[in-house]
Amino acid sequence: MLRATVNKILTYSVVDGPGNRMVIFLQGCNFACAACHNPYTIGVCDDCGDCLPVCEPKALTLQSGKITFDATLCTDCDNCLGICPISASPMVQQMNVDDILEIARKHHPFLTGITVSGGEATLQLKFITALFTAIKADPDLSNLTCFIDTNGHLGPKGWSQILPVTDGVMMDVKALDPTLHRTLTGQGNAKLLRAARIVFDAGKLYELRFMAAPDVNDTEKEITALADFALSLSPQIRIRINAFQLHGVKGKARDWNAMDKARVDQITTRLNAFGLQNIVTPAMYL
Ligand code: SF4
Ligand code: SF4
Repeated sequence: MLRATVNKILTYSVVDGPGNRMVIFLQGCNFACAACHNPYTIGVCDDCGDCLPVCEPKALTLQSGKITFDATLCTDCDNCLGICPISASPMVQQMNVDDILEIARKHHPFLTGITVSGGEATLQLKFITALFTAIKADPDLSNLTCFIDTNGHLGPKGWSQILPVTDGVMMDVKALDPTLHRTLTGQGNAKLLRAARIVFDAGKLYELRFMAAPDVNDTEKEITALADFALSLSPQIRIRINAFQLHGVKGKARDWNAMDKARVDQITTRLNAFGLQNIVTPAMYL
């Protein structure tokens, strides 16, 4: 049976697409972003066992060479996340489509839709296609919209598979300069820019998301390139500026400065001057 590796499920979110959404965070990512706020969603556990000694309540055990997790013993200390050499989590669950539909049914009266996020949700493409298809075929759930939060690295064949059952896509743009993008994510941005156009042409690009970090990717050159790309899609394209903050971040991004409201306002003013008016800024800076 088709199963997904799920890091966690939020049953209520107002920041992961329109309305109130249930968000399924899938484990595993093909980027290694310096500014990732959930770095423990990047790797997929290889059962090395390095985290066993730091789990004092013995919520983690190794059984037949596989890590098993007992949530009833876990104290949420996150010691296992801190020690994992591949940015994985031993606290993931294997879930099938019915498991997720059952949770969606329980919370359905309060939901506008569901969003798959990550990690990078499209790495588990067969699963999310099956999930969205099942939601649209279920008379009790078919009013829920199905959204994807993605780094955009999926190729055209993958998009042709998932877009027919997708209502909206939020796509991250870390940098327009390919070299800077590779420095920030470990990957080039050609696939992302092509994907944004494919999704836009299908009428399903809900928003571009720009994680702005001071003096890293908020330079005049970068903002101009962002504006040029966005305008090549549409002057009405929705751009959400996310403000880089230090919480949860590991590695070189710990040396960056946090983004404040004044600088986000400057970026907004610059984008507005290019004719882009549909800019969404953070409600708070934490
Ligand atoms: S979560 Fe990380 S440290 Fe723990 S067993 Fe898996 S790969 Fe090893
Ligand atoms: S977060 Fe839970 S599983 Fe991880 S080390 Fe702490 S108690 Fe163990």
